[in-house]
Amino acid sequence: MDQFVAPVATALGAQPETPPAIPDSGFAPVLKGDFSEPMMSEALESLGQLGAELVRLSRSVIDREREFRTLINLIQTVGRGVGLEDVLGRIFDSFTGVIPFDRIGCAFVSEDGTRLTAYWARSELGPMQIQAGYAQPLAGSSLEQIIKTEQPRIINDLEAYLTAKPGSDATRRILAEGGRSSLTCPLIVNGRPLGFLFFTSRSLNTYQAVHQYVFRQIAEQVSTVIERSRAYQRMIDSNHTLVEESHKLEVMAARDGLTGALNRGAIENALAQHARAHQGSAATFGVIMVDLDHFKNINDTFGHPIGDLVLRELVKRLNGAIRQSDVLGRYGGEEFLIIVGESGAGQVLAEMERLRRAISDQCFELGCRQYAVTASFGGAMSIPGASSGEDLIRRADKALYEAKARGRNCCIMAGE
Ligand code: GH3
Ligand code: MG
Ligand code: MG
Repeated sequence: MDQFVAPVATALGAQPETPPAIPDSGFAPVLKGDFSEPMMSEALESLGQLGAELVRLSRSVIDREREFRTLINLIQTVGRGVGLEDVLGRIFDSFTGVIPFDRIGCAFVSEDGTRLTAYWARSELGPMQIQAGYAQPLAGSSLEQIIKTEQPRIINDLEAYLTAKPGSDATRRILAEGGRSSLTCPLIVNGRPLGFLFFTSRSLNTYQAVHQYVFRQIAEQVSTVIERSRAYQRMIDSNHTLVEESHKLEVMAARDGLTGALNRGAIENALAQHARAHQGSAATFGVIMVDLDHFKNINDTFGHPIGDLVLRELVKRLNGAIRQSDVLGRYGGEEFLIIVGESGAGQVLAEMERLRRAISDQCFELGCRQYAVTASFGGAMSIPGASSGEDLIRRADKALYEAKARGRNCCIMAGE
């Protein structure tokens, strides 16, 4: 029999294991040297069947050698980083023709060993009923037994299995997908259960002892490769989370907590960048300073919290009325700065007027009360080759001062 086993083991780079470990196959007594009747003819027949299966299998393994090599090579390359999806995808490709299946799923055991959660599946059956994240308790389930024995389990009639165990939700779902038989293979690394590979076939009676045997030959390599790529995947995922978190922090650090507009440092930076980008360019851009009129009165009359709501509503209206390419920031208490990118004086003046009306045309509805609010505007244009951010702010501020002096709720453009 070794002559049949050898090609399997060689192709996989694994040490052959003695097949008698396969239970209930009928040939175990023969392999133990028990040739007594009536077992003998029956057992020899089983042995013949197994031999034929192994010949067929070794051919298919040789056919699949390239795929298996790729899989085994992953053991070396995983240390350098291969994502888990990629590894599982390659397992799917590698097993084709060796273990029959129409679906492969992979699930992992939780750290505390109490739960099993589906992670990945590829299927040629109907729409998936067991998706990533589907979790079941492991304790007390029949899967626990598979981990203990390390022996893949064959169910060759899933419908009959469900009749016997009507509480098995996973079986019900796999049947709904169109599965009729299954081979459940434990993934174990250094004696620690990692999870399972579930092979499912659309036909009854697909799985034989030989498939259990084949999986056992490479169980350790497959488990190791999955564990290592999983560790790598976790590192990648936590790295992504860190990058996202630090990006969020950066965004938060640039925002004003009350209104969500850019804060003073961020709007000043944006303006300095804008000024630099326009150095040597003939194109102009503008800045607008906005200041609420008699805002102190609103605070004094209705209280500070209402004043805060006015500021938030103001920012909402300004954001709704500026162009998408413009940038808004809170420059001081009730003073805001807008960078109006790539524009002429006429456009900036028109924008100021649009903003002014967005505030004054409709009362602010805060709670159940209405508040008439207005603001004054001062605008300034960049001078090609001669404008710094500070200079622009100074001129816009002066124009704003003039708008206040002219009676508020109006817009003034700085003279060149
Ligand atoms: P003017 O029309 O001349 O601009 O008059 P004003 O009352 O708007 O200007 P003033 O500078 O006298 O008052 C600004 C007020 O804005 C005073 C300050 O308490 C208030 N303020 C600044 N920051 C906040 C804030 O975050 N929330 C609230 N509620 N009030 C603020
Ligand atoms: Mg004011
Ligand atoms: Mg002010």
